[in-house]
Amino acid sequence: MKSVFPISELPLIKVTGRDYSYQVRRIFCVGRNYVEHALELGNAVERKQPFYFTKSPFSLLDADKEFNYPPMTKDLHHEIELVVAIAKPLQKATREDIEGSIFGYACGLDMTRRDLQNVAKKQGKPWDVSKDFDGSAIIGEITEAKEVSNVKNSKLKLFLNDRLQQMGKISDMIHSVDEILLDLSRYTHLGPGDLIMTGTPAGVSAVKKGDILIAQIDGLTDLKVKISES
Ligand code: MN
Repeated sequence: MKSVFPISELPLIKVTGRDYSYQVRRIFCVGRNYVEHALELGNAVERKQPFYFTKSPFSLLDADKEFNYPPMTKDLHHEIELVVAIAKPLQKATREDIEGSIFGYACGLDMTRRDLQNVAKKQGKPWDVSKDFDGSAIIGEITEAKEVSNVKNSKLKLFLNDRLQQMGKISDMIHSVDEILLDLSRYTHLGPGDLIMTGTPAGVSAVKKGDILIAQIDGLTDLKVKISES
């Protein structure tokens, strides 16, 4: 049956050095996955279990586009994150299942309306409007897992106008990528097209119009984005 309002196709992310791309179905995000970041926002460190929120695939912004500063915030923060792209179905996954289940990795920015998030946290309300808005999931090219030697030992670096603003190590995650896949696949049937943003290290800060952000993770393609002047 024809749709009265046909929607554009699911968004695509470039795959570095390939002539195909990765189509995005869902975006899951892990909260408070680095000790120093949890502490800098005044949150308790919870080691027992990860927790999640989501972003719409239509909140994706390609790395080579400008990011429009969103309305309804005066405190928009960058959060550099390792993004994991899933390659095969995972449901109630075991350690054997997750072997070879990752298609690739990318640098991502979980853009956050921190002022709205702080209000939501205080009032025990959902985070959606602080996390899921137009362009809020900025994700660079995906590098295929087979091209990345040891992402677990990579460093993440976020430069704000050439100043090193965030730095961390993937190995400092409270919940590792494997643990996240094991846990999240108990709640939902993961599969190709699903991305997981795995949390941010310390150093988050506000951006303003005209700023340039560069996100780097060893072994992956850099992500550069400009906050639009207008
Ligand atoms: Mn985040």
